[in-house]
Amino acid sequence: MVNPIPIHDDKFYFADGDLVLRSLPSSEGKVTLFRPHQTTMAYSSPVFSGMLGIPGEQEMYDGAPVVDLGDTAEELRALLDALHDPSAITVSRWDPNAPLILTPLMRVASKYMADAIRERIIALLEEGCPRTFEQWVRFSAEQRALEQLYATSPDPFNDGTGLSDRVPEPAALVRFACDFDVPTLLPFAFYTLASIPAARTWTRPAGSPRVASRRYARWELLDAGELARVLRGRETLSYIRENSKQWADYYFSAPTFLCIVPQHRRACSERVLEVEDQWLQHIARKPMHTGCPDPLRIFEDAYYDAQAWKLCDDCTGKMRKWIREEQQRDIWDSLQDTFDL
Ligand SMILES: [Zn+2]
Repeated sequence: MVNPIPIHDDKFYFADGDLVLRSLPSSEGKVTLFRPHQTTMAYSSPVFSGMLGIPGEQEMYDGAPVVDLGDTAEELRALLDALHDPSAITVSRWDPNAPLILTPLMRVASKYMADAIRERIIALLEEGCPRTFEQWVRFSAEQRALEQLYATSPDPFNDGTGLSDRVPEPAALVRFACDFDVPTLLPFAFYTLASIPAARTWTRPAGSPRVASRRYARWELLDAGELARVLRGRETLSYIRENSKQWADYYFSAPTFLCIVPQHRRACSERVLEVEDQWLQHIARKPMHTGCPDPLRIFEDAYYDAQAWKLCDDCTGKMRKWIREEQQRDIWDSLQDTFDL
């Protein structure tokens, strides 16, 4: 076998480095040599630290011991880049490609137990992914504003992007979270997947382009167990959606519903039947929720509609509080169970 031709990496072959790392050969048979400092490597990674501590016969190159690594030059360059400047690891907050972009670096950072890099990558993904109910409320308001832009214009930013290009893509998040054991991303990712029809595939068949205002998912990234979780979650969410009709019955029927402002009591009591009717219509008029239930969204719409229901301020306030605290928060808090996480 002909020895592969070694080339020195442009950026990370330091003149005063005291360790040579050798990459796997590329498809052209070239191996890349990196020459970092032992202290940097050992400080950031216990795997390197252990490797460097093993005494024995050591191949030398350019005056430094050589370590053969089972990683490509691109992977090693990304690792060294991240070790020398963690702030260089960056993706935009809601980039739907973020989990895919960060996966190669996450793989080598995990392999070498470079925890600072792992944490930085996880923090970047978590930033775009609500993990608490309060974060979800903010996320939802922002997403709602985007949806309204796409509802009124197919290309509101004049750059050919659709809604799906501007919000996190849930299947890639699930893949990343399961491969690298990041459970904090899963409740939001699975919930979002459950609300997207399976026919809305990220890569569209010829002649079936994306609709700018819709969401699409990379369904093909999920394994059978993960798809089963989506199905099981959908069943629970359907049940919650059906149940919410009964909750409306309970909430609006006297004597549970009672306006406490004397001068509004009569008007509110007269309005309440109509409000209940609107509430039920609200649930019924969204046929897409049948297969892909999104009860958080149903309540969110109701939260915003409540102003138009013309109850007094006190009753509207109480109703909104009930939606947030009694309904949506419960749904959010149950997501672990809903998706068997
Ligand atoms: Zn009232």
